[in-house]
Amino acid sequence: MARKLCRVNASPVVAPATAVQQAAARPTIGVLALQGDVREHIAALALCGADPVLVRRESELAAVDALVLPGGESTAISKLLGVFELLEPLRARLRAGMPAFGSCAGMILLASEVLDTRPDAQHLSGIDMTVRRNAFGRQVDSFETDLDFAGLDDGPMRAVFIRAPWVERVGDGVEVLATVPDGPFAGRIVAVRQGNVVATSFHPEVTGDLRVHHLFVDLVRAA
Ligand code: GLN
Repeated sequence: MARKLCRVNASPVVAPATAVQQAAARPTIGVLALQGDVREHIAALALCGADPVLVRRESELAAVDALVLPGGESTAISKLLGVFELLEPLRARLRAGMPAFGSCAGMILLASEVLDTRPDAQHLSGIDMTVRRNAFGRQVDSFETDLDFAGLDDGPMRAVFIRAPWVERVGDGVEVLATVPDGPFAGRIVAVRQGNVVATSFHPEVTGDLRVHHLFVDLVRAA
C-alpha cells in the first residue's frame, strides 16, 4: 500500500489534456436514432475509440462532432426527420462540413438524388450522387460478398447487402471506394466518399469488421 502511494506521489506531473486534445482523441459521434440499426453503430463506434451518443433532437445534433446515419428504412427515417424537425438542422450541418457516414438507408438519405423512392421522401444532399433504392431487388434478394475497399489494408471486406441501394451516378469530387466484384451486379458502386462524408450500400456495423468505422473515426479526428 505504502509503496503504491509512494509511486503515485513520485509520478511526474502531467498537464491535463485540453478540451480540444480530448475531442481529437475521443470524438463525440452521434448516431441518428429515429429508426434502424442504431445499436450496432453505437457498439462499433465505441470499439473504434469514439464517444457515441444518440441523436434525436436538434440540441443533440448540435453537440456532436460527426453523425452516423444507420441502416433501416429510408422513407421512415425521412418522415421522422420531419417530425423531429431535424431536416434543416442536419442539412445545415452537412453544408458546414460536419463529417457523416451513412450505411444503406443512411446512404440513401445522404444522396442528392434518389430513384425508386416515395415522391415525398426527403434527402440531405451530403454527397453529390444519384442512388437507386432497393436496387438489388427485394428482401429475399439480400446477399453477402467479399469486396475490395479502397485505402483499407488487410484484404477484402465481407459486405452484407440487405435490400440495399446502389449508386448510379457520382458527381465530380466523389471518390468511388468499392464496387461489386463479380456476378450479375459486377461493377455497381457500393461505397463512396466526398470530403468528410462516406456512404456504403452495405452494413459494416453487422459483420464485426470495424475497418470502415475506424476509417470514419480517423477522418473525424482529422477534421
Ligand atoms: N431498403 C431500405 C430503404 O429503402 C434500406 C435497407 C437497409 O438499410 N438495410 O431505406
